[in-house]
Amino acid sequence: MNTSTEPLIDDSYVADPAGRILDLVLSKRKKGAHVIGLYCGYAPLELIRSIGAVPAFLCASSGRTIPAAEAVLPANLCPLIKSSFGFIKTKTCPLYELSEAVIGETTCDGKKKMYELISHLKPTHVMDLPYLADEEGALAQWTDTVRKFKAFLEETFEVDIRDERIEAEIRETNTKCRLVDRVFEYAALNPPVIHWSEVLDIVGLDPVTHSGELRRFIEPVIERLDARVAGGIGFGRPGSPRVLVSGCPIGGEARKVLRIIEEAGGVVVAMEGCSGMKGYSIRVDEGTGDPLSAVAAGTLKIPCSCMTPNRRRFDALDEMILRFRPDVVIDVILQACHTYNIESWRIERHVRDRFGLPFLKIETDYSESDVEQLRTRIEALLESA
Ligand code: SF4
Ligand code: SF4
Repeated sequence: MNTSTEPLIDDSYVADPAGRILDLVLSKRKKGAHVIGLYCGYAPLELIRSIGAVPAFLCASSGRTIPAAEAVLPANLCPLIKSSFGFIKTKTCPLYELSEAVIGETTCDGKKKMYELISHLKPTHVMDLPYLADEEGALAQWTDTVRKFKAFLEETFEVDIRDERIEAEIRETNTKCRLVDRVFEYAALNPPVIHWSEVLDIVGLDPVTHSGELRRFIEPVIERLDARVAGGIGFGRPGSPRVLVSGCPIGGEARKVLRIIEEAGGVVVAMEGCSGMKGYSIRVDEGTGDPLSAVAAGTLKIPCSCMTPNRRRFDALDEMILRFRPDVVIDVILQACHTYNIESWRIERHVRDRFGLPFLKIETDYSESDVEQLRTRIEALLESA
């Protein structure tokens, strides 16, 4: 199988993906848009965009800032939390420096308590999640939380958020979801004609663009993908095991796992985590007449392991397996992420029993210390596939 050497993404603007995102945020900030920092998919982007603000996912995936964080935080904490705190402490996250407010949520104890340590630095609003999301009253509770978030935005930025604006942003978000989802179709092909790093670059641009910008970016990408299909260009060798990577978000240095999979002869076709495809399976209902409640209902459907039971994650995984047809599943757990770690046992039973797929759970962090051990385990898995 040929592998394309032509870049999928036109890099004439800014070559590296993080630089491209920063450049877009900076250009919007210069034109007067507010910038609001966040860490998690539960932050309702439609509300942030309804005041013309740019939602910016803050730096959280480098081990470089962890030593500074560990001067305050315990070492046996998830690297994502330590890294984010370290970026803030060392003032090295440019998006945090640009942000005029930060949105947090109570998805896990570590993050919840970390927000207490940064809330004096910028206006910080923490959204309280109902963990039993399917129980009666959970949606009403979350809708109330989303309403309080709206009030926070209105007070902090001295604006009045009208329902029409929220409704317009719901439509906008759904349009963007459909656009990005078209790109995922090329990963579902056999062989996939898009590389996992290209998928992640496109996903990374979504939060900081409106649908027109994203369309201008994605349409040439789709033309190049079609050209790859026509030219018989794809990724992996004939018979390369197709890998679905599930679990925690894996940005930055945790992407070592994706590289090792590739070096071991596998081809990554789907990424279940929030840094990958998770958010794109959800659409917020349009035209309900109560857009704030619709946003609350949509975000509460996110299948994060902080929810119990987390039936939606199993359903979403089923859909991904049927669509991307992996040969193996690798569940990546960031160290000390208890909820994803514990849920991994049930995920393993599920993918083995329902689909007969080999499964491997990996616990890792942002260091390079486990690379050779991971390589050995991943190679053994792929040989058995
Ligand atoms: S995995 Fe859960 S906590 Fe992490 S970003 Fe996704 S929704 Fe938020
Ligand atoms: S990966 Fe797990 S422990 Fe880390 S911030 Fe996300 S939910 Fe919390």
